[in-house]
Amino acid sequence: MTAEQFADRHIGPDRDDERRMLQAVGYDSIDELMDAAIPEVIRWHGTLDLPEPAGEREALAELRALAGANTVAVSMIGLGYHGTHTPAVIRRNVLENPAWYTAYTPYQPEISQGRLEALLNFQTMVTDLTGLATANASMLDEGTAAAEAMTLARRASRSKSPVYVVDADTLPQTIAVIGSRAEPLGIEVRVLDLDVEELPAEFFGLHLQYPGASGAVREHRGLVQAAHAVGALVTVAADLLALTLLRPPGEIGVDIAAGTTQRFGVPMGFGGPHAGYLAVRSGLERMLPGRLVGVSRDADGNPAYRLALQTREQHIRREKATSNICTAQVLLAVMAGMYAVYHGPDGLRAIARRTREMAARLAAGLRAGGVSVADVAFFDTVTATVPGRAAEVVAAAAQRNVNLRLVDADRVGISCDETTTVAHLQAVWAAFGVPVFDGDADVALPAALRRESDFLTHPVFRSHHSETAMLRYLRRLADFDYALDRGMIPLGSCTMKLNATTEMEPVTWPEFAHIHPFAPESQTAGYREMIAQLEAWLAEVTGYDAVSVQPNAGSQGELAGLLAIRAYHASRGAGHRDVCLIPSSAHGTNAASAVMAGMRVVVVGCDADGNVDLVDLDAKIDKHRDDLAAIMVTYPSTHGVYETGIASLCAKVHDAGGQVYVDGANLNALVGFAKPGRFGADVSHLNLHKTFCIPHGGGGPGVGPVAVRAHLAPFLPGDPGAAHVDGRPAISAAKYGSAGILPIPWAYLRMMGASGLTRATGVAVLAANYVAARLREHFPVLYAGNKGLVAHECILDLRPVTKATGVSVDDVAKRLIDYGFHAPTMSFPVAGTLMVEPTESEDLAELDRFCDAMIAIRAEIDKVGSGEWPAGDNPLSNAPHTAAMVSADEWPHPYPRSVGAYPAGVRPAGRYWPPVRRIDGAYGDRNLVCSCPSPEAFED
Ligand SMILES: *Cc1c(COP(=O)(O)O)cnc(C)c1O
Repeated sequence: MTAEQFADRHIGPDRDDERRMLQAVGYDSIDELMDAAIPEVIRWHGTLDLPEPAGEREALAELRALAGANTVAVSMIGLGYHGTHTPAVIRRNVLENPAWYTAYTPYQPEISQGRLEALLNFQTMVTDLTGLATANASMLDEGTAAAEAMTLARRASRSKSPVYVVDADTLPQTIAVIGSRAEPLGIEVRVLDLDVEELPAEFFGLHLQYPGASGAVREHRGLVQAAHAVGALVTVAADLLALTLLRPPGEIGVDIAAGTTQRFGVPMGFGGPHAGYLAVRSGLERMLPGRLVGVSRDADGNPAYRLALQTREQHIRREKATSNICTAQVLLAVMAGMYAVYHGPDGLRAIARRTREMAARLAAGLRAGGVSVADVAFFDTVTATVPGRAAEVVAAAAQRNVNLRLVDADRVGISCDETTTVAHLQAVWAAFGVPVFDGDADVALPAALRRESDFLTHPVFRSHHSETAMLRYLRRLADFDYALDRGMIPLGSCTMKLNATTEMEPVTWPEFAHIHPFAPESQTAGYREMIAQLEAWLAEVTGYDAVSVQPNAGSQGELAGLLAIRAYHASRGAGHRDVCLIPSSAHGTNAASAVMAGMRVVVVGCDADGNVDLVDLDAKIDKHRDDLAAIMVTYPSTHGVYETGIASLCAKVHDAGGQVYVDGANLNALVGFAKPGRFGADVSHLNLHKTFCIPHGGGGPGVGPVAVRAHLAPFLPGDPGAAHVDGRPAISAAKYGSAGILPIPWAYLRMMGASGLTRATGVAVLAANYVAARLREHFPVLYAGNKGLVAHECILDLRPVTKATGVSVDDVAKRLIDYGFHAPTMSFPVAGTLMVEPTESEDLAELDRFCDAMIAIRAEIDKVGSGEWPAGDNPLSNAPHTAAMVSADEWPHPYPRSVGAYPAGVRPAGRYWPPVRRIDGAYGDRNLVCSCPSPEAFED
């Protein structure tokens, strides 16, 4: 017997399934199919140079060894990353629960009410604590949230000044990210020590940190007024735990708050992932980037949650884009929100008070021992001055397993948190050489800075404090939702494949979870080795020379890649090259990223077959030859086709002096068969949350590494702690971005090996062609390439049936819920179509169940078309059906209840019931409500 291969677990179809699928598609082998599908000009015929695939136990043992090379120390470094106790009930039932982590972004709100409610809790938590009107459902981290706040201020300010003022006591990594985002936009960042320096006469925005990086808590009212007087907006990067005790920014007229929710139960993870937040005062809500959960109503008039302003995807409006954020940090936002639900306002206040008390005792002890401590108001962080001895003190603390912050040669920063104990204080005192202190410490905060207002008054924050109640609340919400643990999520472009349990397990190991991003290198050897291996494997898979895992979503990888192109041109004296060609079929983030990189977007059309129109491309290149910076194309295209013109497209752009960016979101159709870095591209981002098995988490986390050929390698992201020094951009707040989830793609690559990865690609392409072959006669497949084959996804064109019968893509998507499926991608990249991506992980039985459902739906559409069922009252227009609806005493519809409830092939006992009927989107947009509605709203 051969050893068990992980690939056989990851890949759904077995060899028998494979044979039957090949037969339906008309090929004898996967190799033959791939030879026909992939244009020979880009085909790569080698074998990936990766280690032999490891079994699940072997891979975990290797990860254990890597984890063992990290040292978990007590972190008192602070700087936006703090120790926190993840409540076990949240760790196991959210972070480690596939019902939460395998869900997709809640674009189909009827099957996403659980995570939408959890996100609404998060938004309510942020608005209550900051004192502002509206918060979105998470940003990627504090640094990027602060950068988005800057561009929001730019759009909203009436000042024409290009100057953005940043207080010097801001987190250094935030200053680095702000600087990197400002430069291509022509924004002039001025870092000023506002304790001693004056504000300039004109500026459009002001960024303050509260408490400051040094720990100091300042009265900001005067600065806010001064900024408003010149038409500037003010952002405060506020610590939410501190805001339980400190007066919130909203109460002194601040316009925007930005920050992180990491210390609300989300482990540090060597930098991420954690949910950043962004909140705005009233009047700015429609300018807010990111995803916003709102309250609307369903077909029965009951309250129901949905993503607000979704139809215009808010901010990603191609060349008019204001932000490129797409994937956010949903799973972590759910955790942080649940932390607030579990502890409630009193619990949070108690945690904050205890943290504050520890810091106060620490300071008192240092002072009693003759150490000078900055004489300022503080919450959890103190800065001590030990002339010339700072490094020595930090080293002495490290010997006691405690990490402190080395501010400079004379100063040490010490930060307390929820996990701080008296023993930790004793270790710090010992490191400073002062005696143990057990006197009284003054814990009172200055009256002017104290919070008087209440917060988290909604019942949800007062009802789930016992573990039993919390467990049941989490279970109830999870039961509302459809995730991969229920069935297939055939979302084109999103690659909803297996997220194997073995890949997930290491994420919560302490040696990965509890590492501060600025921990000394001597403590992070295991992490760095794992990351170096992962980067090398990704380089091998893509054919590039260098990879950076810093970007924490695909969109951020795009920005990093375009900034590298920009810097490359500038380094060759061609800084004027600023035109970015983007095909009309591109994902919205592409154009948005180009705008953020300071480029001008020029759209290239598509021809009748959906391919990039090479004639139009020639014309656009001609017109912009002297200014051409780059082209951004997705390969295979967003139409799910291996375009044959790709090699000549690359050549044309290179001949004109431009660089080629290949959006790697569709890499699942290439791995093992073609390498973008070899077929003419200069740079790509990958989506590790698509191709490489990081779960979608309901809309995040993600990792979007940027991969480049050698000539762009000098321009990859730098260390945000040192970005100003080495001249590279800071894309995320932490050097390795969302390092805490990198064990997932590491394990996937390690266990699949060259053979497994290559077979996965082949089966993914086979599955898409199988679905296309089975459904083609019922719904036309919009685009195809060589020999009528698609790549790893196919677009079903519903426009003809919609035209003939009035049944819309929406109706079909919602009816699929009754059949027990998540809808495919709707109306992207072509309005009125569904894009299906089955992935390699779905077995033949599930693929057939989906095809059977689509065929049955086609028969239902025909009954509407023939007039048997009226257009406005049929199983499609009324979908999805809820249990309440089909069990109601009255049934006024012209089709049997059973047809609504249990369509063909659906077993009554296993049926998934959505908790609400179809949701009225327009109503929610007109009546924007983005925090928890009162319980009365749910009464009949
Ligand atoms: C998903 C996707 C992106 C954006 O990636 P995020 O991780 O969501 O930021 C970009 N381009 C394409 C084609 C995609 O499918």
